[in-house]
Amino acid sequence: AYSVRTASQFLHEKAYVNGKWVDAKSGKKFQVLNPANGGLMGSCPDMNAEDTQLAIQKAHTAFQFWKKSSVKERSAVLRKWFNLMMENQQELGKLITEEMGKPLKEAMGEIGYAAGFFEWFAEEARRTYGDIIPSPVDSKRLLAIKQPVGVCGLITPWNFPSAMITRKAGAAIAAGCTVVIKPAEDTPFSALVLCDLAEKAGLPPGVINVVTCSRQNTVEVGKVLCESPLVAKISFTGSTNTGKILLQQCANTVKRVSMELGGNAPFVVFDSADVDAAVMGAMACKFRVSGQTCVCANRFLVQEGIYDQFVQKLGEQMLKQLKVGDGFSEDVTQGPLINSKGVDKVDELTQDAVSRGAQLKMGGKRHSAGENYYEPTLLTDVTSEMRCFKEEIFGPVSAVIKFRTEDEAVALANASSVGLAGYFFSRDLSQIWRVAENMEVGMVAVNDGILSTVEAPFGGVKESGIGREGSKYGIDEYMNIKYICMGGI
Ligand code: ADP
Repeated sequence: AYSVRTASQFLHEKAYVNGKWVDAKSGKKFQVLNPANGGLMGSCPDMNAEDTQLAIQKAHTAFQFWKKSSVKERSAVLRKWFNLMMENQQELGKLITEEMGKPLKEAMGEIGYAAGFFEWFAEEARRTYGDIIPSPVDSKRLLAIKQPVGVCGLITPWNFPSAMITRKAGAAIAAGCTVVIKPAEDTPFSALVLCDLAEKAGLPPGVINVVTCSRQNTVEVGKVLCESPLVAKISFTGSTNTGKILLQQCANTVKRVSMELGGNAPFVVFDSADVDAAVMGAMACKFRVSGQTCVCANRFLVQEGIYDQFVQKLGEQMLKQLKVGDGFSEDVTQGPLINSKGVDKVDELTQDAVSRGAQLKMGGKRHSAGENYYEPTLLTDVTSEMRCFKEEIFGPVSAVIKFRTEDEAVALANASSVGLAGYFFSRDLSQIWRVAENMEVGMVAVNDGILSTVEAPFGGVKESGIGREGSKYGIDEYMNIKYICMGGI
């Protein structure tokens, strides 16, 4: 039914700087492949440090007027931008499915979520209140105002090619900042189409800029963004390892940073839980984007009294609900993984677990649909020594661990250097409060498998990152507080 792929007017094979569609100065390009079949989707300018410097300069020039625009003007543009995304939801969804593989229904869902950040920040733009602070002496009046930080470098991943950009750019542009975006090399087209719609929404040239580059040029482009004195802030979503590199590179100019890094989400099911609800939550939480989100359940910790029941029902639902294939086929729920490297990692973690004594109840190997596909997999008797307990799986593998007491569950959940999302199912009210407060994560879902929404603060603790995105807090990441002391009164 979805045989028609991205319409050509939505596929922009140029970068976007200062309101113009541009090539790399070198003329070089890199190819973007469809992970479902390895086919060529298109190519993009392979920009380098010099191209990036130029984009930063343009963004810096634009900042001088954009910071002075009224909040009402910024709000109106963001609102139009939201409307345009929703009017073109299906075409934008197709672009996502084609460049990174998620099923079209999920891709269209992402567009709704992504556009929602523009709608939200259109509203928040008008509420960046400061304070009047009671003065300790009568001759002074003290105020705090909020001002946009300046040019923001946004470095984004491929798993939500649209939403990870709008969550940052919506907040930044609402605050009065300008942005230079470096999208993931796998998914530049979802970034570029946003520029097209921005123009139609009336966003002035230079406010949004997209620098595309291959993995090879990523290091130099990233370095320029982090080290340029004209860039005031870096906001990054991606792996913890890359985040650490960027933090180091930002140190020299003491940049403001927001980091949304990896997770290792525990999903705890207590004896007191509604097991059927827990299984449904587990399915929603584990298999979105074929397991490739940083808030996907990575470790199912299940109490001994309901362990067998949970494992059996999870297996049944996996068989019933999951269909692997090309994301453009209507009934497919599990598209390809992003690339063969991703499949290799998932397989390594599965084989490691099996070699250390985990039981393979389902799947456990590459899927016959093609080289980027992996079978939905169920592993039980997983232990904390196995790699799938310690590392982000980022694939359709459920790893189930048995525990006996609540204390043991919390200790296992917290036995990680990262802490992004955590989930648990329980019907014991005091246990719900205890566990919600004791989990070392930035976000907890209780009796639910899905927690992301534009209204709520997204972010982690420990090595999962710094800062919060979305919500009423998100815009503060792009503003400085300035204290004004008025004396001589
Ligand atoms: P993944 O393993 O999912 O690709 P990464 O953290 O490597 O996660 O990628 C997230 C984003 O960070 C992508 O846009 C990628 O191109 C970019 N990236 C990766 N390495 C660097 C780097 N050294 N400097 C700047 N950006 C980088």
